[in-house]
Amino acid sequence: MPISKFKAQITAAGAALLLTACMTTNEVTGRSQFITIPPSQDAALGLEAMNEVKKTADVETNTADAKRVQRIGRRIAAISDNPGMPWEFVVIDEDVLNAWALPGGKIAVYKKMVDSFTSDEELAAVIGHEIAHAILRHGAEKMSRVQAQNMAIAGVGVAVGATTEDQQMSQIAVTLGALAAQGFVQLPHSRAMELEADDVGTRYMARAGYDPRAAVRLWKKMKAMKDGGGGQPAWLSTHPTDDQRIKRLSDKMDSYLSEYNPR
Ligand SMILES: [Zn+2]
Repeated sequence: MPISKFKAQITAAGAALLLTACMTTNEVTGRSQFITIPPSQDAALGLEAMNEVKKTADVETNTADAKRVQRIGRRIAAISDNPGMPWEFVVIDEDVLNAWALPGGKIAVYKKMVDSFTSDEELAAVIGHEIAHAILRHGAEKMSRVQAQNMAIAGVGVAVGATTEDQQMSQIAVTLGALAAQGFVQLPHSRAMELEADDVGTRYMARAGYDPRAAVRLWKKMKAMKDGGGGQPAWLSTHPTDDQRIKRLSDKMDSYLSEYNPR
């Protein structure tokens, strides 16, 4: 058999194995997700990636801004579907409207975002959205998609050199660890992930005692900032339009308000 054909067969077998091994149903949303990383690896991957970020960016962990983000973040994480994640909340001292979440609950909010939203309820909408991304394992899902694409392009079978499922998983984890270190936070989320994070994040903020109507105010302000020039904020440069998000949140506001637990 020509080697290229042999490789193709191995790749197809590997991909099929990976697909069946990696479809999981998300307990919070009920959506079926393709994720190659076992949940037990999330914390280590997130920690590794956060350590890389701390080497290169101006990360604040003990300033007034950082303490504000931590106070809001811990309050929301405590009532989330996974309060036991190794949560960490930091501020990055850069003049960009952005925030992100790494696997395992490592969350960063950029200084311009903290400065732009002086109301804790509006900032809680940002942080609730990121907490939802972490809990719904969107980072792991993004990385899994990239890895599957790379495999298809390179024609490298995961089955090569690995005989057990455990060995394959550890190979996959090594590849993804390297990817995480390269700054995978810059990969965009899909439209479905963004809308899920809006929905679950708004539910969490309401349960934590932040008025969920602030989420709609936040998106309207973000839209106005964008329309007012200064380009597209990085946090919004994803598929759903601002109007779509605002409409979806407004449509479900009664449901969020029913979970609102003012303190
Ligand atoms: Zn998002």
